[in-house]
Amino acid sequence: MDVGGITYTDTYYVKKEAAKELRLHFHELVHVLQWRELAPQGFIERYIREIQDFGYDNAPLEKMAYALDRHYQSKGRHLSVEQFVRKNL
Ligand SMILES: [Zn+2]
Repeated sequence: MDVGGITYTDTYYVKKEAAKELRLHFHELVHVLQWRELAPQGFIERYIREIQDFGYDNAPLEKMAYALDRHYQSKGRHLSVEQFVRKNL
């Protein structure tokens, strides 16, 4: 997978060349919330299963992160990202 960043529990890493993409930081912070809500084992099991079953582009955890980073990028209406993640897992 060619991705600009990766999240591991409450820490995320971004490639140097992507470090100025604010939507990428937002995207990875969504994954931090997903990790927290699902707990590490739950997140890892679900993430791997989704990638295997749906592929990266259609994995629901990724689609949620992309939808929210697009919302951020487009300056969408205010919403609690934490509540959104919790309700939509
Ligand atoms: Zn992602």
